[in-house]
Amino acid sequence: MKKDFSPTLLDFGSVQIYLARHFGFCYGVENAIDIAFRTIDENPGKRIFLLSEMIHNPQVNADLLERGVQFLQDTNGKQLVPFESITKEDVVIIPAFGTTLAIEEKLNSIGIQTEKYNTTCPFVEKVWNRSEQIAKKNYSVIVHGKPSHEETRATFSHAAFNTPTVVVNDMQDTVALSKYITGEKSPDEFYNEFKGRYSVGFDASKDLQRFGVVNQTTMLASDTQAIADLLKKVMISHYNLSEATIEERFADTRDTLCYATNDNQTAVYGLLQTEADLAIVVGGYNSSNTSHLVELCEEKLPTYFINTEEKIISKNIIQHYNFHKKEQITTENFLPVETPVKILLTSGASCPDAMVESVITKLVSFYDATITMEDIINEFAD
Ligand code: SF4
Repeated sequence: MKKDFSPTLLDFGSVQIYLARHFGFCYGVENAIDIAFRTIDENPGKRIFLLSEMIHNPQVNADLLERGVQFLQDTNGKQLVPFESITKEDVVIIPAFGTTLAIEEKLNSIGIQTEKYNTTCPFVEKVWNRSEQIAKKNYSVIVHGKPSHEETRATFSHAAFNTPTVVVNDMQDTVALSKYITGEKSPDEFYNEFKGRYSVGFDASKDLQRFGVVNQTTMLASDTQAIADLLKKVMISHYNLSEATIEERFADTRDTLCYATNDNQTAVYGLLQTEADLAIVVGGYNSSNTSHLVELCEEKLPTYFINTEEKIISKNIIQHYNFHKKEQITTENFLPVETPVKILLTSGASCPDAMVESVITKLVSFYDATITMEDIINEFAD
């Protein structure tokens, strides 16, 4: 059945909120949170560690810390608690992004059963399986993802275990990589240009002759498509291939974005069909999928990326995050004077729905709304 991606209008009279048809929590995040809290309940008195942030959501991570959970690493892989202090009596939870084989082995060697409290999302594992399948057919793997993101580090490690692997961050990287495929650049330069992003023993003179592309699950769909298309085109032209023979050198991996990324991004395209004054995107500031929703909205209208309703200081002031510059900024008069004010609203895959509700409540509180939140809920319940 064709999915509906048109937004839902929450009409409070002087403020109209258009809510994306698909937003917020995905299966993988709900599953990870369930397992994490169950683990706490099942292990009273034990030390419980999370390998890194459970998901990129500050509230969820703060709740876990409050329940006594400790982080072993920060989100960039910096060690917060030394592995040497971990014993086999401890519990270590693997986050939804998964982890590298090296870390898994390290924990196993201490006696930690990593499979017992593993919240790796099945959609991330699907990417690992896809890379393994093409590796068995002697393809190298190109991972499109943010090199320092936990999920990309994990996917890189799993792919690199099976086959030569390299990570591209964006189109610029992909264009640069193409020059090694066509021979425009000497393979010797590859090792410097892609430093820290290729597997041990990667041979730039032969490992780019036959490959497949997989993605971090939360990239921007239009970017992943453009990157795969460019690489395919380069292979067709360089090796004189056709659609019929392309598989000789370019594996059909199909898109490895997850359903939630696809649905939330497509719902934003649906949302942007509506003329509005501004957009608000709610989610963790280090959340990849949320930043892509922001990117899409920014192209069309003023967009404010916030991680809690508290960032809406007043009717005039909002503190929001510029993820390009990685800094929080303050904007005054973000709400237009003329009513009705039309606001587009969505949230990332690791943002609880309650947070979106709080944002709506806060916005509505600035107006003499003739309709209450309860009225709206009843309207949808009818
Ligand atoms: S965004 Fe997708 S891959 Fe990531 S946890 Fe959610 S469902 Fe899994």
